[in-house]
Amino acid sequence: MKNQLKAMFTKAEFYMLTQYKVGKIYDMMMGETLQVYMYWCNMVWNRLSIPRRRFISWLVVQHRSQTTEKLARIGVSSSLACVICDQGDEIHKHLFSECPYIKISLLETKSWFGITVATQSLNRLIVWIDRSKKSKFRKNVWHANIYAFVYSVWRCKNDSYWQDLITRPHFLTDNCKRVVKERIRVVLPTIMAR
Ligand SMILES: [Zn+2]
Repeated sequence: MKNQLKAMFTKAEFYMLTQYKVGKIYDMMMGETLQVYMYWCNMVWNRLSIPRRRFISWLVVQHRSQTTEKLARIGVSSSLACVICDQGDEIHKHLFSECPYIKISLLETKSWFGITVATQSLNRLIVWIDRSKKSKFRKNVWHANIYAFVYSVWRCKNDSYWQDLITRPHFLTDNCKRVVKERIRVVLPTIMAR
């Protein structure tokens, strides 16, 4: 529950809620969670993203992938700190939304793909894309972009943890563009041929 609240609100936003009811907060959380679950049920066949990227993204939106903070809690890591920036505990929200290093790439990636919503939350991005009035193809491209981004961050974090290698943010962005463009090039002809 605490982690889900952290994923929905920043500390400042939470303190700005002058009054709240537990039931209302629960409805908000379930509303967003249900929307994301429904989205995944519908989008499991998005062929513009390969299964490996979809799987990692699915773990990440559920906060089930391994972070340094989790590893520290079970005694595998000696530190909770983000292995990329070393400026905060490496929880999911930090790693995929708030890490200053990753933020640069997320902003660049969103801008390049024409995703105009300001949010940095992965769940909110997914819901926003799903609700947008764009074509199904455009939505699939955007979702594929989000999966590519999450997968790139996950690899960047592992490279840093295991090999002391930090990938430049611009490289993460370029990688997202490249894998999505390549996937469209491979998949689009088979879709058009139907
Ligand atoms: Zn960080």
